[in-house]
Amino acid sequence: MNEFELIARLTPTLPGNASVIVGSGDDCAILEAGWADQVLLFKTDAVVEGVHFTKETPAGKIGRKALARCLSDIAAMAGTPVSALVTLGLPQPVDVSRIEAIYAGMEALAREHGVAIVGGETSASPNAFWMSVAMTGTATRGKSPLRSGARAGDAIFVTGRLGGSLLGRHLEFEPRLIEARWLVEHFAINAMMDLSDGLAGDLRHILNASGCGAEIRAASVPISREAKLHARSGSMAKPPLAAALTDGEDFELLFTLPARQAVSLLDTWKSRFPGLPLTCVGKITSEPGLRLRDKHGVRVLAANGYVHLA
Ligand SMILES: [Mg+2]
Repeated sequence: MNEFELIARLTPTLPGNASVIVGSGDDCAILEAGWADQVLLFKTDAVVEGVHFTKETPAGKIGRKALARCLSDIAAMAGTPVSALVTLGLPQPVDVSRIEAIYAGMEALAREHGVAIVGGETSASPNAFWMSVAMTGTATRGKSPLRSGARAGDAIFVTGRLGGSLLGRHLEFEPRLIEARWLVEHFAINAMMDLSDGLAGDLRHILNASGCGAEIRAASVPISREAKLHARSGSMAKPPLAAALTDGEDFELLFTLPARQAVSLLDTWKSRFPGLPLTCVGKITSEPGLRLRDKHGVRVLAANGYVHLA
């Protein structure tokens, strides 16, 4: 049973109450807090030694990443982060100076984004160090694009360049908070999420939630420099396009909007965010499934997100 099958098994019986506007299944929960124009966002995310970082990872970058992952999910809802709670799983004996350095990295990023760290919890952990961050945020009522909002005919966009993040970028990525709020303010964004599992896998979440399909143009996928360099480094490396489609941890925005807004979006984006690429990678279709169009024609992408390139 994979992670997604487990989640699908657990979520149908979760208790709800009158506060829940959007529960499990999107980047953040959206909750009623009694505010006229705003709603509460709520999110949790963990990083584990040996999974998201190694013993050799500089401590400050571990703390930064743990917080940044939650910030990226708040961005996916076009929200503004507010506060965080931090839980640590600590192998014994506790390496105090390493934990202080982890906190310094986390606190620096929290200050940058005006996030208060308001408490937490520690537990002994038999083997690996891990940390979990729970975060609240706010968003304008009705303005958070959900995964279920994509419509046939939408253009599909991604920010940044994809693939090879684990070669370094995953420890230093910038959550796209300002960009996401700007997008929602100026364009009819139908669906949005942040890229954590790779474009092919994450787009599939949008397609499943929205009940539609998509076609990606291989030549349009923005491939990172790392993914291109890594592909040249040896026979075990993934082809760069496969890396851009299936590597995780990009933490860029993936969103859809009506195709008629695409040109105007690209024009205004260029002057507002000149340093960050924005790319149309394909279109939402009424025909279900995820397809890749390249010079050989159109092929269906495998369910696991992996594409076997000839
Ligand atoms: Mg997410």
